[in-house]
Amino acid sequence: MQPAAAPTLDAHNDIVTGVVTTMRQMGVVGLPRNYEIFYEALTGSNHNLSLEVVGLGNRPSQDELDRIGRKYFAQNHDQDIVAQARKVIAKELEDIAGILRNERSHIEKYGQILGETSDGLSNRSMVTRELLQKVVGAMSVATNSTIDHGRQVASALREKSAELESVKSKLEEYKKLADTDPLTHIWNRRAFDTRIARIYSSSKGILFNALILADIDRFKEINDRYGHPVGDKIIQMIADILKTSIRQDMFVARTGGEEFALIVDGASEQATFEIAERIRLLIEQTRFSGETGLDYGPITISMGICMASDAESADDLYAKADRALYRSKVNGRNRITKFSATPDRPLKSWLLYRKD
Ligand code: GH3
Ligand code: MG
Ligand code: MG
Repeated sequence: MQPAAAPTLDAHNDIVTGVVTTMRQMGVVGLPRNYEIFYEALTGSNHNLSLEVVGLGNRPSQDELDRIGRKYFAQNHDQDIVAQARKVIAKELEDIAGILRNERSHIEKYGQILGETSDGLSNRSMVTRELLQKVVGAMSVATNSTIDHGRQVASALREKSAELESVKSKLEEYKKLADTDPLTHIWNRRAFDTRIARIYSSSKGILFNALILADIDRFKEINDRYGHPVGDKIIQMIADILKTSIRQDMFVARTGGEEFALIVDGASEQATFEIAERIRLLIEQTRFSGETGLDYGPITISMGICMASDAESADDLYAKADRALYRSKVNGRNRITKFSATPDRPLKSWLLYRKD
C-alpha cells in the first residue's frame, strides 16, 4: 500500500492563493490572525471554525473575526505555552527537591560523625595527644567533604534557579507578544480588554479613569487611493504619534483595523479632553508622506470620550465612548465628542445628585 501523499508545493500555493483571494473578495484586512482563520477555514482542518466563518456571510466585520480568532487560536496557544512552562517548572522543582534531600542526608551523616566522635571522646578517661590528632584529622576530612558538597549543592541550585529564571522570562516575553499588536507594537485588543476590565474592579479606577476612542477619518479612501501597504504605514505612523505624545504611564492600544483606545488615569473630563485635543491637532498638523516623498495629504482622526464614572461596566464604557465617537463622525469628523446623556438616558451622576 502506498503511504498517503503529502500535499505538494503546488497544492499548498493553491491554498494560499485561495486564502488571499477569498479575503480580498470578502473585504477582510490582511492581519496575520485573519490569514490564520481563513487558512484553517479553507483547508477544512477545523470543522467548527469553518462553519463559523461561513456563518459570517460575505462581509464579515473585524470584530466578528477577532471573536473567532480569540475563540480558536489565542487561547489554545496560551494554554499550550503555559502547560509547557508548567511541565518545565515541575521538573525543575523536583530536581531541586532531590538536591536538597541529598544535602540533608549528607548533613545528617556529618552530624552522625561529629556525634560519634564526641561520644568516643567523652567515654574515655584519658585522651592522648595521638588520639586527639586522629580525631581532629577525621573531623577535618568530614568537614572538608561537607564544605565541598555544600559548594556543589550551591552551584547546582544556582543552575536550577537560572533555568527557572529563563522559563519565567520566556513566559513574560510570550505574554508581552500575546498582548502586542504586530503592526504597530502598541498594546492590542486583548491587552485593552484586560486593562479596561480592571477599571471596574476598584472604586478608585471608576473615579479616576477615562476612555478615549479614536478612529482614522475616511481611511477607506486612503487604502483605495494608495493601496493597503500605505494604509498600514499610516496606521503605524498614527500609533507612533499616539505613543510618543502621551505620558509614559498612559495606556494606548490598537483595538481594531484603524481604531485606537487610550485609557487616561487621574485626569478630569476637561483634562482628558485637552489630551485628546492635543493629539487631534498633532495628527492634523503632521505631514504624512512615503519614502518617495509623495504626500498622502492631511490625515485626521475623530474621537469619543467617556469618563469611567459615567458608565456601569467596561462594556458600557466602551459602548458610550464609541457612541461619542460616532457623534464626532456624523458631525463632520476631525473632532472630539464627550459622552453625554441624552434626555431619555440620564447620566448616573445626574441621578445621584438630583435634589428633587
Ligand atoms: P470613517 O471616517 O467613517 O471612519 O471612514 P472610514 O473609511 O475610515 O471607515 P471605516 O472606519 O468603516 O473603515 C475602515 C477601513 O480601514 C476598512 C478597512 O479596509 C481598513 N482597514 C482596517 N484595518 C486595516 C489594516 O490593518 N490595514 C489597512 N491598510 N487597512 C485597514
Ligand atoms: Mg473604523
Ligand atoms: Mg475610520
